Amino acid sequence: MSYQHKYVDGTNIHFPVGKVVCIGRNYAEHAKELDNPVPTEPLLFIKPGSCVVALEGGFAIPTERGSVPYEAEIAVLIGKPLSNKPSREEVLDAISGFAPALDLTLRDKQAELKAKGLPWEIAKSFDGAAVIAPFVVGSTFPDITDIGIRLSINGQVRQDGNSAQMLNPIIPMIQHMAGCFSLQAGDVILTGTPAGVGPLNVGDELVLELAGVSRFESSVR
Ligand code: ZN
Repeated sequence: MSYQHKYVDGTNIHFPVGKVVCIGRNYAEHAKELDNPVPTEPLLFIKPGSCVVALEGGFAIPTERGSVPYEAEIAVLIGKPLSNKPSREEVLDAISGFAPALDLTLRDKQAELKAKGLPWEIAKSFDGAAVIAPFVVGSTFPDITDIGIRLSINGQVRQDGNSAQMLNPIIPMIQHMAGCFSLQAGDVILTGTPAGVGPLNVGDELVLELAGVSRFESSVR
């Protein structure tokens, strides 16, 4: 079943599924837990739209390619083109929605590539590597510097973060990204993961939420 961006009320969002622009190590506590230095400049990478799958109804993970850790992240849906260092107002106006999402990684492959100083695409861009829930409209949040992201697995809270903890907050992050390359309607920004990452296993039951705003149950097939 091919993925289509959706709002929580079930209506389709008629943008093509674009690229997924990700930021690494955007929460200091998470950089620490993986023994990574906190970057001085935002660490960006891109997943192709082909790797996006829906959270609802369960999703599959690779089972014979080593450890697949979860990273719960606040996803931002871009609804208008942005390029050349847009203003704060332009970025705010271009945000169509927010959803909780999972950035999945083949951690063993990533470690191997990192050790050789090579790009991470293979570890970050496999089919199913971006798992995205339906979006709530951007205007739902009076203050986007205070969005809670929470993941529970099999009844235990594993990650519980807030956009207030981001090293690069959402608006300056998107300004920076759009200064590096154009963003288009249908692109998604994954804004980094708080501390608490760990491996996913087939059969895990997940609850992924934007605290107090949207909540989704899913499972790993
Ligand atoms: Zn991530």
